[in-house]
Amino acid sequence: MPLVGTKEMFKKAYEGGYAIGAFNVNNMEIVQGITEAAAELNSPVILQASAGARKYAKGPYLRHLVEAALEVNDIPIALHLDHGPDFETCKACIDDGFTSVMYDGSKYEFKENIKRTKEVVAYAHEHGVVVEAELGKLAGIEDDVKVAAHDAAYTQPEEVEEFVSETGVDSLAIAIGTSHGAFKFKPEQCTRNADGVLVPPELRFDILAEIEKKIPEFPIVLHGASSVIPKYVKIINANGGKLDDAVGIPEDQLRRAAKSAVCKINIDSDLRLAMTAGIREHFMAHPEHFDPRQYIADGRTYIKELVEHKIKDVLGSDGRADEIVALVNANK
Ligand SMILES: [Zn+2]
Repeated sequence: MPLVGTKEMFKKAYEGGYAIGAFNVNNMEIVQGITEAAAELNSPVILQASAGARKYAKGPYLRHLVEAALEVNDIPIALHLDHGPDFETCKACIDDGFTSVMYDGSKYEFKENIKRTKEVVAYAHEHGVVVEAELGKLAGIEDDVKVAAHDAAYTQPEEVEEFVSETGVDSLAIAIGTSHGAFKFKPEQCTRNADGVLVPPELRFDILAEIEKKIPEFPIVLHGASSVIPKYVKIINANGGKLDDAVGIPEDQLRRAAKSAVCKINIDSDLRLAMTAGIREHFMAHPEHFDPRQYIADGRTYIKELVEHKIKDVLGSDGRADEIVALVNANK
């Protein structure tokens, strides 16, 4: 089937108490690992590319990789721009066939964010493309954008209604304590569980509930929502890597969010960690190997395993592809 937008995905996810995984892609093996896992579990999936990924892989490569994934796998796939920094980047992706774009105006003050988001929404909707925007500021590092923890700010529930109705956006990314990157929190912000793993402060579910009250049935998006799975960090560190005190969002909290108004959960760092774990492990076990197909395949295997786990145990989107395809066809 052709690429789909996210309208139908979010409607079903909202009703069904699950979330759609939005996985960042920038090369062939990542696209393959994610979509093979989703296809085996009959799950819808969002493949997203940041401005940095488009710069790295080049637009045409990304587009054709995703088209190849559609040809091989019979599941609904949306192609989304992650963190569009300006109108031009969003327009380029819309013109390039993306079915969804994020315009991130969260660094601007409220009225300016509305004004800029509105311009993107007007162009996108003219072309049948949906738009995600952001209110509030996440800490952490996303490509070149670094937001210090003290500049981060939770989304203000009293602002969401005006923002959504003024801009006409289709979904909203909010800040309730998630953070970009593999080092989401400083060790002193966390406690340690029985296994010695750092556990960050709980997400602000109270803010999420207030937002849901203000804009009922509106799809909410969580960025910076990798769980930084200790298993992969351990493999990396046991095979020559050095990732001290990497901290993510505990998966039980993400599962809880997926059951609420949160319809899209972004996962990037976990993919990077899984791929790196597979490749590092391979090199340590086979120092004589030099065929990239051998070691990158191990990275791809871990990506697939990770995405299967996320779909089944965190997102709850397994077995949901058919209901989305049916709704897409009914809306044609
Ligand atoms: Zn993000």
